[in-house]
Amino acid sequence: MNMEKVLSSAISRAGEITRTGEVASYIPELAKFDGGSLAVAYCDMEGNLVSAGDMEMLFSIQSISKIISLALALETLGLECVLSKVGNMPTSDPFNSIFRLELSSSHKPLNPLINAGAIAVISMLSHETPSGRFDKVIELTGKLTGRVDIDYNRNIYLSEKKSGQRNRALAFFLSSVDVLEGDPSAVLDDYFKQCSIECTTIDLAVMGATLAAGGVNPVSGEQVLSESTCAFVRSLMMICGLYEGSGDFAIRVGFPGKSGVGGGIVGAVPDKMGIATYGPSLDQFGNSVGGTAIMEDISRQMQLRVL
Ligand code: GLU
Repeated sequence: MNMEKVLSSAISRAGEITRTGEVASYIPELAKFDGGSLAVAYCDMEGNLVSAGDMEMLFSIQSISKIISLALALETLGLECVLSKVGNMPTSDPFNSIFRLELSSSHKPLNPLINAGAIAVISMLSHETPSGRFDKVIELTGKLTGRVDIDYNRNIYLSEKKSGQRNRALAFFLSSVDVLEGDPSAVLDDYFKQCSIECTTIDLAVMGATLAAGGVNPVSGEQVLSESTCAFVRSLMMICGLYEGSGDFAIRVGFPGKSGVGGGIVGAVPDKMGIATYGPSLDQFGNSVGGTAIMEDISRQMQLRVL
């Protein structure tokens, strides 16, 4: 089987359905991306990379960054401490929903992969100085992806900051009930920066492979995370990595994934491979339409289902 051809054909087949989605515009800078763009890459456990489409294009990882700050919190603070501030439950509410936070008696966000949960998790890293906190997130992103010049996009960060009233509401509410630690404005700044970190589809495939391999980056050979952190992160990706689309993704694709409104999806097939897609046209839940179709196609052809 010529794998490059398999990936290119999956991209061609996804072309039509991609056009049914829409590029995110609530963060104005994201609206500038080409809704027809598509890419896919995978990285196996030996570090072999295969890719097709716009695989070298940089885009902001958005919510995919939530698994990175979660992994950092798990490694530095431990599972018990993380679960004292966020739950491990799926939710059928939108990623930026606020209402359940007030209704629940603990006021804890349901999981670390919705905005409220991710904001709470970053705040937990406040034993670092505010600037050190983001430095640690970007340093870990570099190790997970193997990208040496990893950085965030200033224009997207400023656009997020300007349009981020909903996230501000979440952070200040969480601060009022003592779930968020430290200064909410400084925490939000780091959240906006981590969402604006730029990667290519290939970078995300390597990151997925690192999570699939129990924390060893198969390209660099470095043990970046512990096996237990990877297992927890992969489980959460499976139950809530694509918001209200998580059940649909589990049924259609069959392995853990995490999406971002920048159009990326990262998948981790335990002990087999990392796989990533890019396609900025999104469905109503904020997940890439073309990316999901490509993941489903490749999963079927390469028999990647874990369920
Ligand atoms: N920066 C985005 C937000 O806070 C992330 C959402 C996502 O990628 O799902 O709205």
